[in-house]
Amino acid sequence: MKPAPFAYLRPGSLPEALAALAGEPDAKVLAGGQSLVPLLSMRLAAPSLLVDINGIPGLADIDADASGVRLGALARHADVLASAEARRVQPLLAMALANVAHATIRNRGTTVGSIVHADAAAEMPVVLTLLGGSVEVASVRGTRTIHADDLYVGPLESSLAHDEVAVSAHFPALPAGAGVAFEEIARRHGDYALCGVAALVDGDTVRAGYLSVNDVPTVVDLTGVPISETGAAALEQLEPADDIHATAAYRAQLVRVLTERVVRAAHDMVSTSST
Ligand code: FAD
Repeated sequence: MKPAPFAYLRPGSLPEALAALAGEPDAKVLAGGQSLVPLLSMRLAAPSLLVDINGIPGLADIDADASGVRLGALARHADVLASAEARRVQPLLAMALANVAHATIRNRGTTVGSIVHADAAAEMPVVLTLLGGSVEVASVRGTRTIHADDLYVGPLESSLAHDEVAVSAHFPALPAGAGVAFEEIARRHGDYALCGVAALVDGDTVRAGYLSVNDVPTVVDLTGVPISETGAAALEQLEPADDIHATAAYRAQLVRVLTERVVRAAHDMVSTSST
């Protein structure tokens, strides 16, 4: 199918983009287009105006320091995956990004775009939520920071207002002596996962984040649970559902198996880093 007609604007500055969004309630931001363009073509989205942010300078930065990794709105998945500094400061980014789609999609798709697209089957919203990250957004009213816990309000729905642009996302650094791990099962490598799990072990605290299980990115606390029981304990806090890709029973089994694997792997990372 072809998209419904829309107007197109490629502003050269952020204020120009924000003014255009504020003046048109049905406008949408276009970043990498890897989710939005298919939605347009299937007529599941029909914005009156596309505000293409790709001409705005200074939005593609990847900055890693002791506090964490900050990604600009135009940092492509592929560039984040290739950044040795980002990998060193927060290894969970690369672990998860290696599973995001295929190389051609990662070359164009942006990590911030994926985060605000709020797909419960996507890897990076779960990573941001598990790590306690945040998104910096701008509008004609000014800027604000949205913590990941306040970002996801429903399936494919974030708490950004229609005229806000996410200018960057911040992922906290891996604390010294902490460990992370990520695993997912997909029919083919690069497909959306049937179930994916990320784990963070930091001191006594053990948490795991889930994609393609609930209808929003979901994190559960597994502190104090023996590793061999983490899968069952996680399942008590989740609601795997049937869809055309997998049954609820199969998803529940994936939750059990993957949770134990990633919690064990994150513990192993802690042991390796302390020897
Ligand atoms: P766009 O498509 O440009 O935009 C997506 C949505 O976010 C739109 O509503 C847009 O208005 C909004 N938006 C984007 N950027 C901003 C911003 N800075 N501020 C405000 N709103 C913004 N993703 C995965 O996570 N895992 C996968 O396994 C996976 N597989 C894929 C397979 C295929 C075949 C395809 C086509 C895509 C797949 N994707 C997958 C999606 C891909 O990761 C996209 O890149 C990502 O979802 C959106 O990023 P984008 O920059 O392309 O955003």
